[in-house]
Amino acid sequence: MGTETAKRRVTILGSTGSIGKNTIDLISRNREHYEVVALSANSRARTLAAQAIDLGAKFAAVADPGAYAELKDALSGTGIEAAAGPEAVIEAGAREADWTMAAIVGAAGLEPTLAAVRQGRTVALANKECLVCAGELFMKEVARCGTRLLPVDSEHNAIFQVFDAERVQAIDRLILTASGGAFRDLSLEQMKSVTPEQAVAHPNWSMGAKISVDSASMFNKGLEFIEAYHLFGLPADRIEILVHPQSVIHSMVAYIDGSVLAQLGSPDMRTPIAFCLAYPERMAAPVPRLDLAQLGRLDFRAPDAERFPALRIVREALHQGGVVPTAMNAANEVAVAAFLNREIRFLDIPVVVEATMGEIARTSTTGGTLDSLDTVLAVDREARVCAREKTHALAE
Ligand code: NAD
Ligand code: MG
Repeated sequence: MGTETAKRRVTILGSTGSIGKNTIDLISRNREHYEVVALSANSRARTLAAQAIDLGAKFAAVADPGAYAELKDALSGTGIEAAAGPEAVIEAGAREADWTMAAIVGAAGLEPTLAAVRQGRTVALANKECLVCAGELFMKEVARCGTRLLPVDSEHNAIFQVFDAERVQAIDRLILTASGGAFRDLSLEQMKSVTPEQAVAHPNWSMGAKISVDSASMFNKGLEFIEAYHLFGLPADRIEILVHPQSVIHSMVAYIDGSVLAQLGSPDMRTPIAFCLAYPERMAAPVPRLDLAQLGRLDFRAPDAERFPALRIVREALHQGGVVPTAMNAANEVAVAAFLNREIRFLDIPVVVEATMGEIARTSTTGGTLDSLDTVLAVDREARVCAREKTHALAE
């Protein structure tokens, strides 16, 4: 780690997930540079305990109180502290660390990630839903605490790598690339009957279930659009989406002189995670080397807003602002869970999201920007109740 002699103290929120495991893979190969402070998971106590023992973590937290006995049992005699409940996960984020990977999925990650932000050190952000449901509040806390925020999402990590933060006035626009997801070549008719198994089988990336369904509906690109808006501070009309099926160009920055800078790589999350882990140095990552000659070609096309209404819905949510992006995110989480549970169909997801956004915009008692955590959480709860009613109505 350059001139640093002490080990970097790291915490991983969401260590049992896809991003969490990839982060651990890199840390395990470079144990001399890292010391693990805390790990957290939702309910997989055995996996979490095994990770904590292997990495010599000091603290392990499960969100589900029902998993406490199992965690405590698996960690007995190790000296590793076990805790459970949402408060314990927040504590994992608050334990002193130099670097935190925020890789919980969904708005459930907001409070633990904010706890890490408030340490004023470095937060590697994978949990994009934090920025969608509480963008203004989150970025204000980052600035107030002097926290270094490093984007893990491959598109935002790519932009970060080619974004001249000292000459923002020279930046014309951001181009977010999208694989198009599992259903990029299906007709609307064909999309009517797709199954959860088909939706989670992403053509290029191996990821958690929720983000895989989001990729298939293109809500993922929509959430990333809002994520980019908050991270880089460009107006929404200067953020473009471009379908690029091979996922080799991870995103681009276009400058006013006509230059377009891109970051390329194999579709393996260990590249952006390694970038964040070693920042500002670089570390070796065991990813397949990019072989452009073998690939032969890179393809591009404009996104299809008719087959993927999520793209229009998300722009609309950002445009309306206030409670609407928070409601949209919550409704999408509920709708995706209902689809994975086979309660609603794939094409019902945008229907539930849009109807919830409209209803919450009309009925919410909270106006203007959401500037406190309590209001964000209240809107998130209201929207979940509303979205659940809508999924139940569709399921009947
Ligand atoms: P995942 O489902 O594989 O893992 C999610 C993690 O969050 C698990 O450790 C789980 O135990 C934990 N978790 C879930 N619910 C929780 C709760 N209520 N409280 C506390 N912890 C909880 O998801 P993932 O694919 O690793 O994605 C994590 C985040 O990173 C998401 O926001 C996703 O959009 C983002 N992301 C993922 C990828 C990817 O390649 N997987 C790429 C870019 C961004
Ligand atoms: Mg992404």
